[in-house]
Amino acid sequence: MTAARSFGGVLRIVLASMFLFCASTVKAQVLVTVPCVLIEGETIAEVAVRFGVTPDDLAELNRDTNLSDASVGTEIAVGIGERVEHTVARGETMLRLARRYGVTATDLGRWNSITDARRLRAGARLVIYAWPHLPPSSSIGRPSAGSLEHAVRLRSSPSCVVHDRERAFVTREVATALDAGLRAVREAFPRTPRIEIRDASIEHGGPLAGHHSHQSGRDIDVAYYRHHCDELCAHGRVEPGDLDAERLYSLLVGWLRSGALDYVFIDYDLQGPLYRAAQAHGATYGELARWFQWPHGRDRQAGIIRHASGHRDHMHLRFACGSHDRECRPDRSGTELP
Ligand SMILES: [Zn+2]
Repeated sequence: MTAARSFGGVLRIVLASMFLFCASTVKAQVLVTVPCVLIEGETIAEVAVRFGVTPDDLAELNRDTNLSDASVGTEIAVGIGERVEHTVARGETMLRLARRYGVTATDLGRWNSITDARRLRAGARLVIYAWPHLPPSSSIGRPSAGSLEHAVRLRSSPSCVVHDRERAFVTREVATALDAGLRAVREAFPRTPRIEIRDASIEHGGPLAGHHSHQSGRDIDVAYYRHHCDELCAHGRVEPGDLDAERLYSLLVGWLRSGALDYVFIDYDLQGPLYRAAQAHGATYGELARWFQWPHGRDRQAGIIRHASGHRDHMHLRFACGSHDRECRPDRSGTELP
């Protein structure tokens, strides 16, 4: 999300919507402030990163709240969004809804007091604060022959360090999904080191030097969580015994379950510990078979998690086409090189 469009943009939207309201030829939108609740261990700077705004923007929107004194549970305004009521259809999950509206599953839960995502029932009415004024970003074409529109830039945050900001562009849905995954790791493991994010795409996509893919805003190279990496887990060769498979699994599991990923390219030798972590955390036999190439050998064309050479020092996430990506071409065969 670009911070630049946040405030001038917000004012213009309020004015524009007042005009629409007066003209009353268009169904009026209810514009409300998107509330965010400060969670345990989270700072105001982190909230700003989470919503793609600056700390100054937050101060401006929350003039009546002393943000430096805000405690856990404090409601903070983070922007102007549209309040949408959504009736849950059969088969819809929190993660799927979060992706559809470009929010996180955690926020959906907070806005609707849902503590157990499995309790979502068809027919339930949810309130969602979406961001209708931002143009949807879209991934066009294939990972190895594509482009990107209205991209958002990944930013360094308390969860990650972005290596090269010119090669850090993705679609908004991918950015939201990445953020949700990184936060899930920190919620499960409070003292998690930051992880290094290497190349995604350039701003408008297209060929990226040094890669075959990374052209359409859905590919991201990410370092592995390792034991003993102190403040930052950076790119670097990882031995199977060094891999922090528990954290890696907690990063991937939400995406695997929600169908957010087409592929994750991980060196075959590192897949074993990850497989065992998945097993230990209750992945079903069917899930393991669907997700993993392991233990069938590095040449077996199966699984979302697959071997590709050159992935001993980082993994390569390839997200699926998103709900806005009408011209996106998925890679169903896994034949597009990372
Ligand atoms: Zn890559």
